[in-house]
Amino acid sequence: MNVQAPPIPPPPTPAADATPVMVQYLESKAKQPDALLFFRMGDFYELFFDDAKVAAGALGIAQTYRGKHGGEDIPMAGVPVHAADAYIAKLIRLGFKVAVCEQMEDPAEAKKRGSKAVVRRDLVRVVTPGTLTEDSLLDARGANRLAAVAVRGNQAALASVELSTGEVESLLMERSALGPALASLRPSEVLAADRLFADEAASAALKTAGGAVQPMPSALAEPSASEARVKRLYGVDTLDGFGDLATVEVIALGLIAAHLETTQAGKLPALRAPRRGGAADTMAIDPATRSSLELERTQGGSREGSLLSVIDRTITAAGARKLADRLARPLLDPTYIDARLDAVQAFTEDANLRGRVRDALKGSADMARALSRLALGRGGPRDLGAIRAGLTVGQDLCALFATLRSPLAIPPAEIAKALDALGLSEQPALAALLQALSHGLEMELPLSARDGGFIAPGYRPELDQTRALRDDSRRVIVALETRLQGESGVQVRIRHNAVLGYFVDATAKQAEMLMQPPLNTVFIHRQTTANQVRFTTAELAELDARISQAGGRVLAMEMETFDELRRQACDFAGQIADAADALAVLDVASALAEWAVEVEAVRPEIDDSTAFEVEGGRHPVVEAAVRRTGAPYTPNDCRLDGGGDGCPRLAIVTGPNMAGKSTFLRQNALLAVLAQAGAFVPARRLRLGVVDRLFSRVGAGDDLARGRSTFMTEMVETAAILTQATPRSLVVLDEIGRGTATYDGLAIAWACAEALHDTNRCRALFATHYHELARLEQRLKACCNLSMRAKEWNGDLVFLHEAVEGAADRSYGVQVAKMAGVPAPVVARARQVLERLERDPNSPARLDDLPLFAATKPPEPVEASRVETALEAIDPDALSPREALEALYRLKNMTR
Ligand code: ADP
Repeated sequence: MNVQAPPIPPPPTPAADATPVMVQYLESKAKQPDALLFFRMGDFYELFFDDAKVAAGALGIAQTYRGKHGGEDIPMAGVPVHAADAYIAKLIRLGFKVAVCEQMEDPAEAKKRGSKAVVRRDLVRVVTPGTLTEDSLLDARGANRLAAVAVRGNQAALASVELSTGEVESLLMERSALGPALASLRPSEVLAADRLFADEAASAALKTAGGAVQPMPSALAEPSASEARVKRLYGVDTLDGFGDLATVEVIALGLIAAHLETTQAGKLPALRAPRRGGAADTMAIDPATRSSLELERTQGGSREGSLLSVIDRTITAAGARKLADRLARPLLDPTYIDARLDAVQAFTEDANLRGRVRDALKGSADMARALSRLALGRGGPRDLGAIRAGLTVGQDLCALFATLRSPLAIPPAEIAKALDALGLSEQPALAALLQALSHGLEMELPLSARDGGFIAPGYRPELDQTRALRDDSRRVIVALETRLQGESGVQVRIRHNAVLGYFVDATAKQAEMLMQPPLNTVFIHRQTTANQVRFTTAELAELDARISQAGGRVLAMEMETFDELRRQACDFAGQIADAADALAVLDVASALAEWAVEVEAVRPEIDDSTAFEVEGGRHPVVEAAVRRTGAPYTPNDCRLDGGGDGCPRLAIVTGPNMAGKSTFLRQNALLAVLAQAGAFVPARRLRLGVVDRLFSRVGAGDDLARGRSTFMTEMVETAAILTQATPRSLVVLDEIGRGTATYDGLAIAWACAEALHDTNRCRALFATHYHELARLEQRLKACCNLSMRAKEWNGDLVFLHEAVEGAADRSYGVQVAKMAGVPAPVVARARQVLERLERDPNSPARLDDLPLFAATKPPEPVEASRVETALEAIDPDALSPREALEALYRLKNMTR
């Protein structure tokens, strides 16, 4: 769902009585009128006017007033700087944009320009959902993409950037592919020229993508200006280095460049060259199918219970993001899929190696996000620490592979490539960086460089000396205190605070004694408080100056060293990003192997045919749930490829409710997703000809949120499938046509099945409760019937969850009603009606003869059971407690 915050009323124009700070505030606000402006004032970010009212309401903070503007009180609300991240995060989640205006100089510096001078302030950043980089604002295991869409004629481009890692992507496609492509990216924010919203299809694709939609002035989508902006973004003179970018791709990238220019105030992250691709590289899965298959989230919106959550065994956040991405965008080229599978297989075959790699990965940190923060000037010592940790783990992994794998065994290409990116022997610059970070940084690191104390001793000799001077002076202070106490005979203490620096702290009585001659030391009065009198001495004042100077110099040197290391890291951003990606690749491959071994998944055979041969397939999520209850899961076969030997392409699946039809359908769709994502599959065997588009629909789902009737939604979605499915697609339809009157629904279901078979010629599973559809098998060459077995046992229904050839003999609706707890008389009555109907199926009109439909006739009484008769005979008020207990035992015995 898109979250769109209410618009913020425009700020007032500067009035004659505006103070200089207010003028400064209004100037900043005018630059970002649609964002809430966080205006730095000392230790707080303050919001004024309507911003203050809106933020106070949204954040639950107090709104006050401060000063006047145009004769009116100015509403004000503020948040402390140290807690600002959490407040910003909340506003972003609510759909607001936040602009941050910082103090660009120390107030002391401003004072030097005159007592009335205003502190210099600048907009440093506009925070939007797609441009977050702070760990505290991001989901570590989820990507955070900013996307932009451009359309020209029949061509469309989808550009995206993950600012927190610097990854950029450009996809070129036909206009109609935009919806699924956008959904597969799962962007947090989507940019599009505002004229695009006039186009209904494009507008719908933007709205269903999930993410804040940001209309941009159409003027920004002009080709030559876009090109100039993209060049500026990358600091290049020509875009030739990026391959042959289509104009529409340049426009999409240009929108991203424009958005970054305004939101990042000139600070740009280390962006990687755009990775190029087309919608033709990945399986098209539209938003409805994603939601129906619960790939990443359940239909209820939770991550728990989705396919991703069930298979995710990754150790690192970057690995989790990569896995999510692979699952969201399964590949089409068997060569690339096999490359992924080779890596997974290598890890399934070597449990020791797998365990050791996974252990080593636990020591790594999120290098890609740390690097991006450093490049944006928002990083701190911990981000350098993350790079140190990542590169170190990379070294460990290279060593592991060198010792554990036989020298003759060549690792699969994907693993070999990752190890190349991690190995430092061929990357001297990276080795030098790691050396510097290892020697230069303490083990425990502060978040912000301003906190100091993070450069390790021995790294910079002058820093060590200055630190010694600072610490030595502290010792001298202690000595001075002892001496003063000895000389004066008064137990005075030397203390420190931010205003006075070091001072002698005395009670009023002690102070009197200190002022008595003949003391050698002259105590100079500095301050009297309610309880204390504070002094300094000539010696103490000098020491104070020395210590504060040394402390300042230490911090300055640490900051300088931080900056050097930061620059060194940014200089090799490309290599660090490659190393970070390599760790994620190893994490994903070993995690998929871990899962495969755990659930006994096998390597799928993938080719360019239209094969779909599943032996002993299982639904990974339902299986996990069923097993938790202690029950076994029934594996099922499925064959659909329309091969010459009478093999079906379309299977009509019938069976009672709860028999496992939906599970069977989704299970087969999920096997295709997993296989093409490069994962092993929970089956005994799977041979799969790549699926280009996957469709999954459940009939008559409630979709009131989108304001369509359920049946209308069902038909809109069915129409989309019938117009888009190709002979390479896989279509899974569950109970289509259910949302309307019986004959209509049957007719629609019938026609859809025929169309899938004759026109789309795709592989399809069609579950239905219209048993009449079983007759299609005789009319359509590549159609077969499957049913979910169920059997009656002692009058009860037992589901075997087994898909077998042939149509279901009956629907067992009455038995299901009984299991569901429909009262016994109603069930018994339903049986009677059913028998009557089954005896004479061809004439529904005769139903009128049935007592059920004759309003005047009372329903035939249903015979009461033995227990009921006995119960009827009991008068509770007439029973003693003992008799009541005996009656209870009797009743219980009757049910045995
Ligand atoms: P239907 O679509 O026919 O109404 P479902 O597919 O929703 O039935 O399945 C109903 C329940 O049966 C599932 O929630 C699951 O607990 C169980 N089930 C389904 N398939 C299997 C299976 N192959 N093995 C074991 N239990 C299964």
